[in-house]
Amino acid sequence: MYEQTTIAAIATPPGEGGIGIIRLSGIDAAEIANRMFETKKLHNFHDAVPYMMYYGKVMDNDRIVDRGLAVYMKAPHSYTGEDVVEFQMHGSVEALRSVLSLALRHGAVPADKGEFTKRAFLNGRIDLAQAESVMDIITARGQAALVQAESHLSGALSQYVHETREKLKEFITKLEVTIDYPEEDLEDLTVDEISKALEEINQSLTQLITRSHRGRFIQDGFKTVLAGRPNAGKSSLLNALLQEDRAIVTDMPGTTRDTIEESIRIGGIPLILMDTAGIRDAENQVEAIGIERARKSMEEADLILMVIDGSVPLTDEDRRILSSLEGKKAIVILNKYDLEQKAGEAEIRSLISEETPIIHLSAQYVSGIDRLEELIQKLMHTEDLDAGRQLFLTNLRHMDLAEKSLELIHQAQKSCADKLPADFIVVDLTEAFHKLGEITGENVDDELINSIFQNFCVGK
Ligand code: GDP
Ligand code: ZN
Repeated sequence: MYEQTTIAAIATPPGEGGIGIIRLSGIDAAEIANRMFETKKLHNFHDAVPYMMYYGKVMDNDRIVDRGLAVYMKAPHSYTGEDVVEFQMHGSVEALRSVLSLALRHGAVPADKGEFTKRAFLNGRIDLAQAESVMDIITARGQAALVQAESHLSGALSQYVHETREKLKEFITKLEVTIDYPEEDLEDLTVDEISKALEEINQSLTQLITRSHRGRFIQDGFKTVLAGRPNAGKSSLLNALLQEDRAIVTDMPGTTRDTIEESIRIGGIPLILMDTAGIRDAENQVEAIGIERARKSMEEADLILMVIDGSVPLTDEDRRILSSLEGKKAIVILNKYDLEQKAGEAEIRSLISEETPIIHLSAQYVSGIDRLEELIQKLMHTEDLDAGRQLFLTNLRHMDLAEKSLELIHQAQKSCADKLPADFIVVDLTEAFHKLGEITGENVDDELINSIFQNFCVGK
């Protein structure tokens, strides 16, 4: 056990709710519960049957703070691997804070961000990749992200890393024999065998990395840009799409002031909708920067929704934007369909490629939005979204380590082909072995561990 302290935190989000959970973990968890929780069933909370729910009262001396359930999870069979007590109280900010401060008064210390999961890792309950997937589950946007995070937590990634490292280890050992006993004529046999094995590892890593690059949207969503000149109806369309998706809209923090970003899902397809329009509506002096930024975001977009005001004739700016759609996934939207249409559809057709669909709708009257959504689904659906069974890397740290390992494998293959001495190959393979190990947390330093868990929330 790595810590003698007992940590405590509110594990549920702040705000009113049906229930709220306070979690204690550490050597004194049961004793602290004993001092603050009263239940008719027990004289002493130390005697609690593990995993049994006890109904009772949290007491601050003679005062009842709140009523609820308590459960004792005995080390090592708990989330953290330590003694854990969880109180299920009413989901009231005041009640939960009072229960927490009581626990602190009785000897617990406030848990740091992610400290429960960090303890689970340090106590060997889960490896680092699994610990990170816990946070991915909490922050998953969309079904595909959840499926991946869950599979990482189940150990699919850890298993892959483990198997690949085993193969590397096997060949490192064989090569070391040839270094130590050069007179043993193993060379020819091993070089062939090793080239073949390295090629297999190379291919499997390459596929994993390519698939993960392609599947980046599983975690982030497809970058979708609302393009079009001022007043075409971009903001109205954004609102119409958000309205339809109101229940699952989340605000994305940290977006720039003049770009509105919203994360939404359309029939299971995660999108990050970006309305760059605000830039152009803003003061004139920033217009140049705005145009540049809008152009850049169009370049980076996975999907462009080009909005045209259908009630007025096409302008040069419309033509310019239409011509820039070449080679991009895009949908041209003739908006304001409730008004008389004056934008020439034939001309629009002539400016865009055949595959780019044109659709009419009215953003203001939220009419035709469902057809747009169908179109988006059809256009953006990829097998990766269904590929729950395939392993993806969704974490940048893992991706970086996998790419570094692949590079080292490449190097080793080259040394092999160039018939360099075995030492060279061993050095690269050993390094690749370590890099892969960092994914699951072998030989990682405290600093890295701390920085990873700092991204967690308190109470997890
Ligand atoms: P943006 O500058 O491209 O973001 O355009 P806005 O969404 O701000 O809309 C510009 C103006 O067009 C506003 O006055 C809207 O009310 C109006 N508008 C947007 N969509 C429609 C529509 O479908 N029909 C009509 N009649 N007006 C619309
Ligand atoms: Zn706008």
